[in-house]
Amino acid sequence: MSINKEIYFQIKEQLEPQSVELIAVSKTKPNEDLQALYDLGHRAFGENYVQELVDKEASLPKDIQWHFIGHLQSNKVKYIAPFVHLIHGVDSEKLLQEINKQAIKCNRVIDCLLQVHIATEETKFGFDGPALHDFFVSGRVADYSNVRIRGLMGMASFSDDQQLLSQEFTTLKSYFDNAKQAFPNGQFDILSMGMSSDYALAISKGSTMVRIGSLLFGARNYTK
Ligand SMILES: *Cc1c(COP(=O)(O)O)cnc(C)c1O
Repeated sequence: MSINKEIYFQIKEQLEPQSVELIAVSKTKPNEDLQALYDLGHRAFGENYVQELVDKEASLPKDIQWHFIGHLQSNKVKYIAPFVHLIHGVDSEKLLQEINKQAIKCNRVIDCLLQVHIATEETKFGFDGPALHDFFVSGRVADYSNVRIRGLMGMASFSDDQQLLSQEFTTLKSYFDNAKQAFPNGQFDILSMGMSSDYALAISKGSTMVRIGSLLFGARNYTK
Protein backbone atom coordinates (compact mmCIF):
# COMPACT_ATOMS: atom_id res chain seq x y z
CA MET A 1 0.00 0.00 0.00
CA SER A 2 1.26 3.45 -0.79
CA ILE A 3 0.19 6.72 -2.22
CA ASN A 4 1.25 8.36 -5.45
CA LYS A 5 2.97 11.53 -4.21
CA GLU A 6 4.02 12.75 -7.62
CA ILE A 7 0.52 12.56 -9.01
CA TYR A 8 -0.80 14.25 -5.87
CA PHE A 9 1.46 17.25 -6.38
CA GLN A 10 0.72 17.33 -10.11
CA ILE A 11 -3.01 17.39 -9.49
CA LYS A 12 -2.66 20.06 -6.80
CA GLU A 13 -0.69 22.21 -9.21
CA GLN A 14 -3.31 21.72 -11.90
CA LEU A 15 -6.21 22.64 -9.59
CA GLU A 16 -4.71 25.58 -7.78
CA PRO A 17 -4.92 28.27 -10.48
CA GLN A 18 -8.58 27.38 -11.05
CA SER A 19 -9.39 27.30 -7.31
CA VAL A 20 -10.78 23.79 -7.58
CA GLU A 21 -10.74 21.79 -4.36
CA LEU A 22 -9.39 18.25 -4.26
CA ILE A 23 -11.19 15.61 -2.21
CA ALA A 24 -9.00 12.54 -1.76
CA VAL A 25 -11.34 9.57 -1.99
CA SER A 26 -9.89 7.08 0.47
CA LYS A 27 -12.64 4.43 0.63
CA THR A 28 -11.29 0.90 1.19
CA LYS A 29 -7.79 2.32 1.83
CA PRO A 30 -5.94 1.71 5.10
CA ASN A 31 -5.32 4.47 7.65
CA GLU A 32 -1.60 4.51 6.80
CA ASP A 33 -2.40 5.73 3.30
CA LEU A 34 -4.61 8.52 4.58
CA GLN A 35 -1.98 9.46 7.15
CA ALA A 36 0.67 9.58 4.40
CA LEU A 37 -1.39 12.06 2.42
CA TYR A 38 -2.19 13.98 5.61
CA ASP A 39 1.55 14.26 6.27
CA LEU A 40 1.90 15.99 2.89
CA GLY A 41 -0.56 18.58 4.16
CA HIS A 42 -3.80 17.18 2.79
CA ARG A 43 -6.93 17.55 4.91
CA ALA A 44 -10.01 16.78 2.76
CA PHE A 45 -10.91 13.10 2.50
CA GLY A 46 -13.96 11.41 1.00
CA GLU A 47 -15.57 8.16 2.13
CA ASN A 48 -18.72 6.38 1.07
CA TYR A 49 -19.41 3.82 3.79
CA VAL A 50 -20.67 5.07 7.14
CA GLN A 51 -19.00 2.45 9.30
CA GLU A 52 -15.66 2.86 7.59
CA LEU A 53 -15.87 6.63 7.92
CA VAL A 54 -16.74 6.40 11.62
CA ASP A 55 -13.79 4.07 12.27
CA LYS A 56 -11.35 6.26 10.36
CA GLU A 57 -12.56 9.44 12.04
CA ALA A 58 -11.94 7.86 15.44
CA SER A 59 -8.34 6.94 14.71
CA LEU A 60 -7.02 9.69 12.43
CA PRO A 61 -6.16 13.34 13.20
CA LYS A 62 -9.04 15.52 14.34
CA ASP A 63 -8.49 18.32 11.86
CA ILE A 64 -9.35 16.15 8.85
CA GLN A 65 -12.37 17.38 6.92
CA TRP A 66 -14.50 14.33 6.21
CA HIS A 67 -16.66 14.34 3.10
CA PHE A 68 -19.40 11.76 2.79
CA ILE A 69 -19.71 11.01 -0.92
CA GLY A 70 -21.80 7.84 -1.07
CA HIS A 71 -25.45 6.95 -0.85
CA LEU A 72 -26.50 7.80 2.69
CA GLN A 73 -29.32 5.89 4.39
CA SER A 74 -31.49 7.98 6.70
CA ASN A 75 -31.01 5.65 9.65
CA LYS A 76 -27.22 6.14 9.50
CA VAL A 77 -27.11 9.92 9.46
CA LYS A 78 -26.80 10.03 13.25
CA TYR A 79 -23.39 8.33 13.18
CA ILE A 80 -21.71 10.95 11.03
CA ALA A 81 -23.71 14.05 12.02
CA PRO A 82 -21.39 15.04 14.89
CA PHE A 83 -18.34 15.53 12.68
CA VAL A 84 -19.03 15.33 8.93
CA HIS A 85 -17.73 18.34 6.98
CA LEU A 86 -19.82 18.05 3.80
CA ILE A 87 -22.42 15.50 2.67
CA HIS A 88 -22.26 15.28 -1.14
CA GLY A 89 -24.97 12.78 -1.93
CA VAL A 90 -28.24 14.19 -0.63
CA ASP A 91 -30.67 12.56 -3.01
CA SER A 92 -34.08 13.14 -1.41
CA GLU A 93 -35.93 15.56 0.84
CA LYS A 94 -36.54 12.74 3.26
CA LEU A 95 -32.80 12.46 3.76
CA LEU A 96 -32.51 16.21 4.09
CA GLN A 97 -35.11 16.14 6.89
CA GLU A 98 -33.16 13.52 8.76
CA ILE A 99 -29.87 15.40 8.34
CA ASN A 100 -31.57 18.52 9.68
CA LYS A 101 -32.95 16.62 12.65
CA GLN A 102 -29.57 15.13 13.56
CA ALA A 103 -27.81 18.45 13.00
CA ILE A 104 -30.18 20.08 15.50
CA LYS A 105 -29.40 17.35 18.03
CA CYS A 106 -25.67 18.01 17.60
CA ASN A 107 -26.21 21.75 17.68
CA ARG A 108 -24.47 22.09 14.31
CA VAL A 109 -25.21 23.34 10.84
CA ILE A 110 -24.31 20.64 8.30
CA ASP A 111 -23.21 21.60 4.81
CA CYS A 112 -24.81 19.51 2.05
CA LEU A 113 -24.81 19.13 -1.71
CA LEU A 114 -27.86 17.87 -3.56
CA GLN A 115 -27.03 14.97 -5.81
CA VAL A 116 -28.35 15.29 -9.33
CA HIS A 117 -28.97 12.38 -11.64
CA ILE A 118 -27.10 13.21 -14.85
CA ALA A 119 -25.91 9.80 -16.02
CA THR A 120 -27.64 7.50 -18.45
CA GLU A 121 -27.52 4.58 -15.99
CA GLU A 122 -30.72 3.92 -14.09
CA THR A 123 -29.06 2.93 -10.84
CA LYS A 124 -27.57 6.23 -9.82
CA PHE A 125 -29.45 8.12 -7.13
CA GLY A 126 -30.38 11.76 -7.23
CA PHE A 127 -32.76 14.56 -8.11
CA ASP A 128 -33.64 15.04 -11.75
CA GLY A 129 -33.89 18.49 -13.34
CA PRO A 130 -37.61 19.09 -12.69
CA ALA A 131 -37.45 17.87 -9.07
CA LEU A 132 -34.51 20.15 -8.42
CA HIS A 133 -36.27 23.11 -9.96
CA ASP A 134 -39.40 22.40 -7.94
CA PHE A 135 -37.39 22.20 -4.74
CA PHE A 136 -35.67 25.54 -5.25
CA VAL A 137 -38.69 27.53 -6.43
CA SER A 138 -40.85 26.14 -3.61
CA GLY A 139 -38.72 27.88 -1.00
CA ARG A 140 -38.77 24.66 1.07
CA VAL A 141 -35.06 25.05 1.51
CA ALA A 142 -35.89 27.48 4.33
CA ASP A 143 -37.54 24.65 6.32
CA TYR A 144 -34.14 23.18 7.10
CA SER A 145 -32.74 25.42 9.81
CA ASN A 146 -29.60 23.38 10.43
CA VAL A 147 -28.70 22.37 6.90
CA ARG A 148 -26.87 24.65 4.54
CA ILE A 149 -27.21 23.70 0.88
CA ARG A 150 -23.84 24.60 -0.59
CA GLY A 151 -24.30 23.33 -4.13
CA LEU A 152 -24.72 20.28 -6.33
CA MET A 153 -22.96 17.00 -6.94
CA GLY A 154 -23.18 14.61 -9.86
CA MET A 155 -21.58 11.56 -11.38
CA ALA A 156 -21.28 11.24 -15.12
CA SER A 157 -22.05 8.02 -16.97
CA PHE A 158 -19.66 5.12 -16.69
CA SER A 159 -18.34 5.61 -20.19
CA ASP A 160 -15.39 7.07 -22.04
CA ASP A 161 -17.53 8.78 -24.63
CA GLN A 162 -16.14 12.30 -24.11
CA GLN A 163 -19.04 13.93 -25.86
CA LEU A 164 -21.57 12.24 -23.60
CA LEU A 165 -19.62 13.12 -20.45
CA SER A 166 -19.21 16.64 -21.67
CA GLN A 167 -22.97 16.99 -22.18
CA GLU A 168 -23.70 15.59 -18.74
CA PHE A 169 -21.30 17.98 -17.01
CA THR A 170 -22.69 20.89 -19.00
CA THR A 171 -26.22 19.96 -17.92
CA LEU A 172 -25.19 19.84 -14.28
CA LYS A 173 -23.44 23.20 -14.56
CA SER A 174 -26.60 24.76 -15.98
CA TYR A 175 -28.69 23.39 -13.08
CA PHE A 176 -26.07 24.80 -10.74
CA ASP A 177 -26.20 28.25 -12.32
CA ASN A 178 -30.00 28.28 -12.17
CA ALA A 179 -30.21 27.09 -8.57
CA LYS A 180 -27.62 29.65 -7.51
CA GLN A 181 -30.19 32.37 -8.12
CA ALA A 182 -32.19 31.07 -5.15
CA PHE A 183 -29.21 31.95 -2.91
CA PRO A 184 -28.43 35.63 -3.26
CA ASN A 185 -26.18 35.42 -0.17
CA GLY A 186 -23.53 33.55 -2.16
CA GLN A 187 -23.44 30.43 0.04
CA PHE A 188 -24.31 28.23 -2.95
CA ASP A 189 -20.83 27.89 -4.37
CA ILE A 190 -19.81 24.23 -4.70
CA LEU A 191 -20.16 22.12 -7.82
CA SER A 192 -18.76 18.66 -7.05
CA MET A 193 -18.10 16.83 -10.29
CA GLY A 194 -15.18 14.88 -11.71
CA MET A 195 -13.31 11.73 -10.63
CA SER A 196 -9.97 10.14 -11.59
CA SER A 197 -10.97 9.43 -15.17
CA ASP A 198 -12.84 12.62 -16.02
CA TYR A 199 -11.76 15.38 -13.67
CA ALA A 200 -10.00 17.52 -16.29
CA LEU A 201 -13.12 17.53 -18.45
CA ALA A 202 -15.30 18.28 -15.40
CA ILE A 203 -13.12 21.28 -14.50
CA SER A 204 -13.32 22.60 -18.04
CA LYS A 205 -17.12 22.47 -17.63
CA GLY A 206 -17.15 24.41 -14.36
CA SER A 207 -16.43 21.98 -11.52
CA THR A 208 -15.23 23.58 -8.26
CA MET A 209 -14.53 20.32 -6.41
CA VAL A 210 -13.17 17.02 -7.70
CA ARG A 211 -13.32 13.64 -5.97
CA ILE A 212 -10.24 11.62 -6.82
CA GLY A 213 -9.44 8.16 -5.48
CA SER A 214 -7.61 5.67 -7.63
CA LEU A 215 -5.17 8.16 -9.17
CA LEU A 216 -3.88 9.00 -5.69
CA PHE A 217 -4.18 5.70 -3.86
CA GLY A 218 -4.07 3.14 -6.67
CA ALA A 219 -6.87 0.83 -7.76
CA ARG A 220 -9.27 -0.38 -5.08
CA ASN A 221 -9.47 -4.02 -4.14
CA TYR A 222 -12.98 -5.04 -3.12
CA THR A 223 -12.29 -8.74 -2.81
CA LYS A 224 -10.88 -8.73 0.73
C1 LIG B 1 -15.25 6.13 -5.52
C2 LIG B 1 -15.82 7.46 -5.84
C3 LIG B 1 -15.02 8.47 -6.43
C4 LIG B 1 -13.57 8.29 -6.80
O1 LIG B 1 -13.40 7.44 -7.88
P1 LIG B 1 -12.00 7.27 -8.63
O2 LIG B 1 -12.37 6.81 -9.96
O3 LIG B 1 -11.24 6.27 -7.84
O4 LIG B 1 -11.34 8.60 -8.63
C5 LIG B 1 -15.61 9.70 -6.66
N1 LIG B 1 -16.90 9.93 -6.34
C6 LIG B 1 -17.68 8.99 -5.79
C7 LIG B 1 -19.10 9.32 -5.48
C8 LIG B 1 -17.18 7.72 -5.53
O5 LIG B 1 -17.97 6.79 -4.97
